Amino acid sequence: MIFGERFRAKYALSEAGEANVKRGVLWTVVTNLVVMAGIGILYLLMQDYMATLVDGAALPGALPYALGVVAFVAVSFLTHLRQYHYTYSVVYDEVGHVRTALAERLRRLPLSFFGHRDLAELTETMMSDVDRLEHVWSHVLGYLYGGYISTAIIAVMVLVLDWRLGLACLWGVPVAFALLFGSRKVFDAYARRAKAAGLAVADSIQETLEDMREIRATNQEARYLAGVDDLIDESERLQTAAELRIGIFVNAASVIMRLGMATTVLVGVGLILSGQIDFMTLFMYLLMVTRIYAPFDQSLALIAEVFVSDVSVRRLNEVFDAPVATGSEVFAPQGHDIAFDRVGFAYGEEAVLEDVSFVAREGEVTALVGPSGSGKSTCARLAARLWDHDAGSLTVGGVEVLDVDPETLMGAFSMVFQDVTLFDDTIMENIRLGRRGATDEEVLAAAAAANCDEFVGRLADGYATQIGENGARLSGGERQRISIARALLKDAPIVLLDEATASLDVENETKVQGALSRLLAGKTVLVIAHRMRTVMGADKIVVLEGGRVVEQGTPVELLAAGGTFARMVELQGANAGWSV
Ligand code: ADP
Repeated sequence: MIFGERFRAKYALSEAGEANVKRGVLWTVVTNLVVMAGIGILYLLMQDYMATLVDGAALPGALPYALGVVAFVAVSFLTHLRQYHYTYSVVYDEVGHVRTALAERLRRLPLSFFGHRDLAELTETMMSDVDRLEHVWSHVLGYLYGGYISTAIIAVMVLVLDWRLGLACLWGVPVAFALLFGSRKVFDAYARRAKAAGLAVADSIQETLEDMREIRATNQEARYLAGVDDLIDESERLQTAAELRIGIFVNAASVIMRLGMATTVLVGVGLILSGQIDFMTLFMYLLMVTRIYAPFDQSLALIAEVFVSDVSVRRLNEVFDAPVATGSEVFAPQGHDIAFDRVGFAYGEEAVLEDVSFVAREGEVTALVGPSGSGKSTCARLAARLWDHDAGSLTVGGVEVLDVDPETLMGAFSMVFQDVTLFDDTIMENIRLGRRGATDEEVLAAAAAANCDEFVGRLADGYATQIGENGARLSGGERQRISIARALLKDAPIVLLDEATASLDVENETKVQGALSRLLAGKTVLVIAHRMRTVMGADKIVVLEGGRVVEQGTPVELLAAGGTFARMVELQGANAGWSV
């Protein structure tokens, strides 16, 4: 049977989508057969009139034919309506299902999935792949498979009525198909190259937009635009080349099929001359032949589209087949100490962390220090299971993080990172993201505690101010205070802090510090520190170098030991500290 799991995978359909395609196919077959029945009426009519012409028989009554035609038109209208419903209307639901399922899937995929992929390609999958498939689901599948089945049924009828005429009109069909499927490799290669070129264009446009400021600052506009132009030209060239090839094969197949008409006439005339069939039989065959080719011709053009959509299906299935992060939704830790025990991790091939062991205790500030690239942020990401560690054990309150569902685990974490993500919404809603369902009063209290009142008070609409995409209208310090307000609102037992004060001026820094002290009290705090002077007040310091822990202890101990930490402090000059 053509349907089933493989069919769904082949076209990236859901079960509901497949059921609709089946109905679409059924109604396409019915519609095609009804059209054939119309030819039957025409044949009977012609036969009666021919009898009148040739034998001088009485003219047949018009009424039965008139009724036949009316019935035909009515039935044909109804079947077309059903066909339309199942091939077009219901498909829009399927598009919705697939996009939602895709988004849901992406949400549950581990970050490692995104780490290995190009974001432009994922966006392309979400948007244009589903669009392309929408076209396949609606305009193609019903007609294509309906066309196959109707052609098969009609072919059997044609062969049973007269196998010689049947063969004469059908021989082109397998030949056309063989040609089309045989040339598949050529299509595929071109379609893939055209797709890759399209992606390169999307990539370069995105890159140009993202780097606009640098490009302008360095007067590189012309060079960048020329680069994008070249890529667009190349993409156009490959697209045209791909379509040209497909066009050549599809049209050649169509012409070969139509040669069947000529051979039917030849064979038919031969058979009439030798007295084996009468003219009316040939006439009926010629009528039928045009009808066999119509759905078939349509199928040929559609097959090309199916071939081209293969790339989209593959990409969509790749997302659906990727393993999601799993784990228990019950998370009952004993306290909230974070314990790394011989943890190892690599983003790709190269190890980023090796044999990392330390404990960040509840109620204490643990600072991770070390040169840039030593693995500080990575440690924080592993603790919150943004990525899964490869070796050793990493527990929160005694529970291995890999055994906990990532979303459940995330409930125990607040993150205050440098690159705060803000959404184009009001300040109020951006803070509310910390805890969905928080009341306005709670949001405002958190905002006040994070020292947001001062700058929000200066904005015309206060907390109802729209802040622009990714907070473009806010300064770095303001954005960070919003992020702290979010974390305060969430009030999670563990706080991961990418040294939030690193990029601020002195005045802002004191304000943010005040807000932070409120946030951190009593929590398990893991700070990714960039500057030595801010870590002197930490309860514990873990020094990383090249992905390994080289020292750990209190600031005083480490200073006394005179190792890496002492050297780093000396280099940067230490004073102020963390206070909780
Ligand atoms: P730090 O926070 O100490 O600056 P990171 O933990 O960010 O260091 O990075 C440690 C190493 O891992 C670096 O070599 C960095 O290039 C690499 N790295 C960080 N993030 C990724 C990522 N998403 N994919 C691949 N490599 C990464």
